[in-house]
Amino acid sequence: MKQLGHRVALITGAGRRGGIGAAIALALAQQGAHIVVADICAAQTELLTVNNPAWEELQTVAREVEQCGARALPLRADVTDAASVQQMVELVREHFGRLDILVNNAGIAISPGPVVFMPDDAWRKTLDVNATGTFLCCKYALPLMLDGERGGRVINIASIASERPKPNMSAYAASKAAVVALTRSLAQEIAQFNITVNALLPGDVETALKQWGVQLEADAKGLTYDEVYAGQIARIPLGRFALPQDVAHMVAWLASNKASFITGQAFAVTGGREWT
Ligand code: NAD
Repeated sequence: MKQLGHRVALITGAGRRGGIGAAIALALAQQGAHIVVADICAAQTELLTVNNPAWEELQTVAREVEQCGARALPLRADVTDAASVQQMVELVREHFGRLDILVNNAGIAISPGPVVFMPDDAWRKTLDVNATGTFLCCKYALPLMLDGERGGRVINIASIASERPKPNMSAYAASKAAVVALTRSLAQEIAQFNITVNALLPGDVETALKQWGVQLEADAKGLTYDEVYAGQIARIPLGRFALPQDVAHMVAWLASNKASFITGQAFAVTGGREWT
């Protein structure tokens, strides 16, 4: 039986096929939810980072959602821009009239490197997308969720970097630690409305973002992509990177009725990796 029938889920950063957001969209659609897939669909910075997907790619993700039998609404939205986030929520209200599940997945990693060499803008932009973007989406989407008086779910995609930061990833780690702290605080604020708020802490997930990070490390250390990749796999007891679906299955479970008594938690999805 489909567990999320009639529910509406909004997933940010869901525009890349093969990304975690798209996998979450498909997993929730397979459980019967209607899906809003949102993404900035454009370069947001001149700093060193992985390319963002195009609008056409987001539309393809929406079509794949529809193939699961769900309704899909693709939206261009910038989570760092309050007006853009408010417009996104208004469109969800117009189109579906409700919101049950918010997945804050949009995230970036920019210009990894030592603090003393990090461009100030890289720090600011990373905090802006990962932490402030999550805050703005919660702030402006929660009123629509509250309107329904049916409870709901907020699921924030943080990172294991929040707890076990690697060197040269200070901005990313700090931004994701902020997401976890926001998760724990917000969970207490809105538990009275039967809305749960949890975070996931993925480790290494096989996506374009991860491949970009592996290549960057290989270039910096004078190693091949395969050498860095093998070194990273060796640290994971389960012997592989996560697939986006591994994260998506956990989101689907947190979104389901089975997780109704769980809030304010941060769950590692790392294949057992215990060190940086
Ligand atoms: P990805 O680059 O495929 O997905 C991130 C998406 O966010 C992109 O589609 C991008 O366009 C979008 N985005 C960026 N800035 C935005 C903005 N201002 N507004 C709206 N959308 C914006 O990467 P992914 O690996 O699928 O990562 C998804 C999430 O998982 C991120 O939050 C990331 O930090 C987190 N994560 C990934 C890994 C990993 O190993 N891949 C590990 C831990 C956590």
